[in-house]
Amino acid sequence: MALAHVLGFPRIGAHRELKFAQEAFWKGASDEAALRATGATLRARHWQAQADAGLDYVTVGDFAWYDQVLGTLALLGAIPSRFGFDPKRLTLADYFTLARGSKQHFAMEMTKWFDTNYHYLVPEWTADVQFDGGVDWLLDEISEARALGHKVKVALVGPLTLLYQGKIKSGITHKLDLLPKVVAGYQQLLKRLQIAGIESVQIDEPILALELDDAWRDAFVPTYAQLSGSAPALLLTTYFGEVSDHVALLRSLPVAGVHLDLVRGADQLAQFVIDWPQDKVLSLGVVDGRNLWRTDLDQVLSKLKPVQAQLGDRLWVGSSCSLLHVPVDLANETKLDDELKSWLAFATQKLAEIVALKQALNGNAAQVEAQFVASRAAQASRRSSTRIHNPLVQKRLAAVTAADAERSSGFETRIAKQQAKWQLPAFPTTTIGSFPQTTEIRQARAAYKRGEIGHLDYLDKMREEIRVVVEKQEQLGLDVLVHGEPERNDMVEYFGEQLWGYTFTANGWVQSYGSRCVKPPIIYGDVYRPEAMTVGWSQFAQTLTAKPMKGMLTGPVTMLQWSFVRDDQPRETTALQIALALRDEVCDLEKANIGMIQIDEPAFREGLPLKARDWPHYLDWAVRAFKISAAGVGDETQIHTHMCYSEFNDILPWIAAMDADVITIETSRSDMELLDGFGQFAYPNDIGPGVYDIHSPRVPQVDEMERLLRKARGVIPDARLWVNPDCGLKTRAWPETYEALENMVLAAKRLRQTV
Ligand code: GLN
Ligand code: ZN
Repeated sequence: MALAHVLGFPRIGAHRELKFAQEAFWKGASDEAALRATGATLRARHWQAQADAGLDYVTVGDFAWYDQVLGTLALLGAIPSRFGFDPKRLTLADYFTLARGSKQHFAMEMTKWFDTNYHYLVPEWTADVQFDGGVDWLLDEISEARALGHKVKVALVGPLTLLYQGKIKSGITHKLDLLPKVVAGYQQLLKRLQIAGIESVQIDEPILALELDDAWRDAFVPTYAQLSGSAPALLLTTYFGEVSDHVALLRSLPVAGVHLDLVRGADQLAQFVIDWPQDKVLSLGVVDGRNLWRTDLDQVLSKLKPVQAQLGDRLWVGSSCSLLHVPVDLANETKLDDELKSWLAFATQKLAEIVALKQALNGNAAQVEAQFVASRAAQASRRSSTRIHNPLVQKRLAAVTAADAERSSGFETRIAKQQAKWQLPAFPTTTIGSFPQTTEIRQARAAYKRGEIGHLDYLDKMREEIRVVVEKQEQLGLDVLVHGEPERNDMVEYFGEQLWGYTFTANGWVQSYGSRCVKPPIIYGDVYRPEAMTVGWSQFAQTLTAKPMKGMLTGPVTMLQWSFVRDDQPRETTALQIALALRDEVCDLEKANIGMIQIDEPAFREGLPLKARDWPHYLDWAVRAFKISAAGVGDETQIHTHMCYSEFNDILPWIAAMDADVITIETSRSDMELLDGFGQFAYPNDIGPGVYDIHSPRVPQVDEMERLLRKARGVIPDARLWVNPDCGLKTRAWPETYEALENMVLAAKRLRQTV
């Protein structure tokens, strides 16, 4: 009999109950008991859902008060010593201090969990870090689940993944120097689980989906040999990508079973199945934990059947990875129509899919026939729906030529014409797009959305805001102005709402970090722009000034990256569709006399695949998509782009290949050092290295920015250099924004006196 399980379930609650309980506790509006009670209720509810669906185990250990990596550290006692907490007596308040910082301590760093939009807290590796035991929360949770009558499988972040994902702070030269201590810590923990009667432990090692060097790869066998001695049965899980580099390793690893992600790594199955060791379970992740489409059950079943014939009881069926990355329950969707809903499965629906597959494998197909019928119907309707397939879009896509991605002239010709037209001073000053989003702006937008104020009222309010923003920029003496983006709630949602092929959920929340949740849009069909999206706003703003007004768009890769993307065509096809829609917007802006247009790509780097060998393919289509969106305009029209992160060196040839006339990037936090790579590479086009960090309310002084700019001049030719902040200003307040920009303009002026 095949068994069914999931690698984890979302912890936030269908109505973000955990978020509200956390935030109430942080504000002091509720006590620890109340927060703990909410956590217990959510865990109980999520286990019940797993049991009711018919899974063979409920997963315990996937819950976290803030983050599962921090939770693992708390469990092992491996919390950063700089906080001065006793690992064995860590309170919930201490735990939150680790995550969020306090007056005395800066918080632990946070970064993206592999290629997801989930952010984990980065372990701090020092010579004195301890692994000899911490909080008992996991054991408490196990008791809770048992008391509720559930059969428990415990999930843990694996030792090598934990080590790998941390950062060396001091005292060691290689993370693996800590391995003996880590292993001892896990041994102790596993022993406790065994004593508690736990039979099965899922141990997550997603680093196996990366390109590991020998030191890391070679660490697996000895580590697991030490762990599996006197421990519960270990199911080693891999996910987020295929692991076929490690077939031999995974076969020989002394664990009770291995889990493969067959959604991301569909082709790897055959290599593993042949002669799969007699003593090992093979768990197959066939239901997508990263996306929200209904599974094609027939297709998956046909893949699983031969495996079951071979493995029998040793086949487990599961989610590809934890369901943490999808929304909780489709039943709470009030905004989506029935047809769209019939195409989707959120975490709760995915439980039922996994069980349906298990039942069909175990000879109970009749019991789950309804699930299969619904799945079949969804696949058929997705294949033929005119809401998904738009012949206009497909025809246009098929006709795209290489020339469509190229501007008519090279950069030197273009920039000369642009300069002749605009006559900008040396070191031109500009901003990244948004200005402070005041309460009034937010209220007006919300009132308009709720239908409380009419279209004209709304238009008036936004225009008034644009007028103020333009006036302030004129006063400040900025050279290239923006309209300030008051009409935008979010840089993807704003465009998604106006494009065909995108839809939005009412409740499709996914945890991004801590209590922060996001509701990514869903791209379900061919993307088509029925009418102009930004032209009216930009055109109005341009009437208010003689200076250039920069149009402002979100680029194709970012539009894709921050959404749930269709799984019935390659990502690059969807990116190109978005690019064509944006191209029309760019051309319409040009026709409306908007002579500078910025196409933001903050998520460009995020899209990089986990394995470096897959980077060139991604970068090629990502660059192509950007260029197609930009290249419809004449030489005189200046295309800007903006990216806000601090690593470019390994992708500079592609950044240059995007051929934006001007790129603005984040550099102030790296003290302009980031720019060195651009210099060495002889990056050819104009560049605006951010001269101050917009994440802080602190007002930078003229001298500081002047110093940064002088540094920049050492690397980038004067004629190519722009002056701007690191990113958009929407999270800032006006007083500090005004002062900071005043100083920035002064810094640019001082520089001009020296040429
Ligand atoms: N134009 C956007 C803004 O200024 C860019 C935001 C971003 O890069 N994340 O808000
Ligand atoms: Zn930015």
